[in-house]
Amino acid sequence: MKTLNFAVLPGDGIGPEVMRVALEILESLGQKYGFSIDYKEADIGGIAIDNHGTAFPEITHKICQDSDAILFGSVGGPKWESLPPKEQPERAALLPIRKTFSLYANIRPGLLYSELSEASPLKNARIPNGIDLVCIRELTGGIYFGQPKSTFEKDGEAVAIDTMIYKASEIERIAQVAIDTAKARQLKVCSVDKANVLETSVLWRKVVTEYFAKNAPEIELSHMYVDNAAMQLARDPNQFDVLFTENMFGDILSDEMGVICGSLGMLASASLGATKNCLNLPFGLYEPSGGTAPDIAGKGTANPCAQVLSAAMMLRYSFGENTAAKALEDAVRLAVTSGKRTGDIAFGKEAISTKAMGTAILKAL
Ligand code: NAD
Repeated sequence: MKTLNFAVLPGDGIGPEVMRVALEILESLGQKYGFSIDYKEADIGGIAIDNHGTAFPEITHKICQDSDAILFGSVGGPKWESLPPKEQPERAALLPIRKTFSLYANIRPGLLYSELSEASPLKNARIPNGIDLVCIRELTGGIYFGQPKSTFEKDGEAVAIDTMIYKASEIERIAQVAIDTAKARQLKVCSVDKANVLETSVLWRKVVTEYFAKNAPEIELSHMYVDNAAMQLARDPNQFDVLFTENMFGDILSDEMGVICGSLGMLASASLGATKNCLNLPFGLYEPSGGTAPDIAGKGTANPCAQVLSAAMMLRYSFGENTAAKALEDAVRLAVTSGKRTGDIAFGKEAISTKAMGTAILKAL
């Protein structure tokens, strides 16, 4: 029997609550689809600061390095907000982990079942069939990592500089992820840039156009400026199938996508690495799109679907368990559309607990 070896980093707030549900479901799914899970749990974020004095301890690093994938909860919360910005959980854990494992490709499905259309600020009238698109974001380049990056004094006042930089090879690498994603969907990609103003965007558009023409001529490629894309996403999200963009634009657009898709409790994500794991599949970090939800943490009411759907992405991308991944996604859909709802997506229906939602997904499986 195949054994799936991965690291489990539940993190803070609702992280451990929803992770428990995801692990229980993976355990049961394995029995049905012929794999076993072998995971090692480690501290990350605020809990790691409390227990080890740092948000991304060496032992956590080692456990991740010895694994084929990372199933991640979320990090941060009010307890650690007074720390200097550089030591706060999100910055001191998430950015280093992305960098350490060269997680350059962020894949965020924007999925809203039609039964949940009312959860979206766009409401049923605009999206009667729900929403179904994917955002592919470059994650390790651009303005967040470019050098120089500093704050200094000049002519008697403070000045700050960030550098936006992209190499053609970085753009081609993420373009291939957009192509692979589009091939499994509707063969349609919209590449988002700001080529009317930014040099990096001029290069982005040129490289993307040439790479698609050479490697995937069957894909319908279009280009859009980021300001227009932000507007179009709010106006008619289903005009997009694969939305593809650089780091900062992707940060903003994927969060906008999260809002129009209703609850953060439903949205999964994958960040794939440059390195292959021992199965020769991409090493990846899989996590819900939302944060630690301090307002509901500890109450047992968080929606576990985003964590469960992140586990499904892990099965697909890092372990090649496509059938089990699809079965898990279908089970979440069935549980929710048949009326089982946590508070964030209840809308007049009875709100059930995190644990009960997990049981409903298991039953649907
Ligand atoms: P948040 O995503 O934690 O919460 C925003 C709202 O969405 C809250 O009302 C919350 O209850 C709700 N929500 C989120 N996930 C939910 C779920 N699974 N079920 C039901 N409701 C859910 O964002 P925030 O309040 O801005 O941030 C809280 C903390 O999380 C901060 O410390 C922030 O830094 C951190 N954070 C971490 C990550 C990460 O680890 N990747 C991402 C975002 C925020």
